[in-house]
Amino acid sequence: MRPPTRSAMRLSRHPHRRLGTAALAGVAVLAALAAGPGTAAAAGPPPPGPRVQVEIPGPEAASGPTPAGSGHALVPVTGQGRPAPHLSAPAAVAADGHVTKVVDNGSTADRLDIVVVGDGYTADQLDRFHADAKEKWGEITGVEPYTTYQNLFNVWTVDAVSPESGVSGDPAQGDVKSTALGSYFWCDGVERLLCVDQDKVDSYVAKAPQADLVVVLANSAKYGGAGYNEPSAKLGYEGISTASAGNAKSGQVAIHETGHSLGKLADEYFYPDTPGYEHYSGPEAEQSNISILTADRMAADRTKWYRWLGETSPDGGTVGAYEGGGYYVTGLSRPTDGSIMRILGKPFNLPGVEAMIAGFYRHASIATPGTSTARTLRSSDTARVVVPRLAGARQLTVRWYLDGRELRRYEGRTAVPVRGLGLGRGAHDLTVRVADRTASVRDPGIAAGLRGAVRWEVRR
Ligand SMILES: [Zn+2]
Repeated sequence: MRPPTRSAMRLSRHPHRRLGTAALAGVAVLAALAAGPGTAAAAGPPPPGPRVQVEIPGPEAASGPTPAGSGHALVPVTGQGRPAPHLSAPAAVAADGHVTKVVDNGSTADRLDIVVVGDGYTADQLDRFHADAKEKWGEITGVEPYTTYQNLFNVWTVDAVSPESGVSGDPAQGDVKSTALGSYFWCDGVERLLCVDQDKVDSYVAKAPQADLVVVLANSAKYGGAGYNEPSAKLGYEGISTASAGNAKSGQVAIHETGHSLGKLADEYFYPDTPGYEHYSGPEAEQSNISILTADRMAADRTKWYRWLGETSPDGGTVGAYEGGGYYVTGLSRPTDGSIMRILGKPFNLPGVEAMIAGFYRHASIATPGTSTARTLRSSDTARVVVPRLAGARQLTVRWYLDGRELRRYEGRTAVPVRGLGLGRGAHDLTVRVADRTASVRDPGIAAGLRGAVRWEVRR
């Protein structure tokens, strides 16, 4: 989405925020304002070096809904903390960089791989890190569509041994700790903004195979997080979410951030009473969940989330075009009043669920050969296909075809003995087609990504 240029002028009062786009500039300024009196850090010269854009989680409310986010900031790529003393204890050196597959649902090539790295855990606390990682994954899989699709994921932990327990900025702004990833609260002057040293994170992520998503867990109970939603050119993952291990709302922040990184969803929140964000008058937004169109126009043009209009959404209410979204109060609409892309603790709305499933299948395969397709299968062989075990198993169809004709008796099976095919002379084509026919996907373009096939040459 292209931002209005006038927000750029607001930037001049904050020359150290060298932002890539004008809208983000305005948002970053706003975020600092949103932090409110008493929470902003003393202004000082910015740390040198390159910066990266992160999303700031919304302020933790004592009561009432917590906004999902409160804008973006350009933060240093480097972390904070005392330089780490040499890790001399043999146990610590041995543990550092150790990789564990915590959740195993198949090969890295066929599954979505989440890599969890802990920070602020000493060598003695690594068991707790593993428990914390499992607990956070449990929290993520409590939210749809993660619940239904959790078996499309592998979860890896990479042990990062920190010299000190806890992270910088916890409990107080001045508390500085020596940790493996340089995590720190009070990033960019915002207490709940939990930043990391991205190069250090990458050095650990690189030890696990092919990360698709990265979660950094800080050994802390303090509310906070950050979304680094720029895909990594170096390691190929879609983004980094930071979260406090001991704070449940912090996990909700991480889920919201995957809405951006995996679902490619826009924020559905907006800024009331904020100059520059009263009205959006630019072109149609790229993201699937915000639009300049009314519901009627969407339906007439058969575009955006028109397939869901009028349906009851898991976050409450019916899908329509609710005014406000993409940071603007008017001029942009969102599909429902309060999905997780606006309010933490809420589910994804129907268009959001569809976008997340599309994101899952960008990284996960629905049909993987369990028997090699590189050689001809003979009578003694069995053709096997590996399919994900989805929670709503009935939505997955598995159909077998011999020379293009369906073998109805094998429907739903994942293994077919060649002997039972009653083959005639010569080479034949055995194909299995697998499709996820979930009712949560209505876009035929996305549905096409939820199908797969495996083909073998068979002879008797
Ligand atoms: Zn967001």
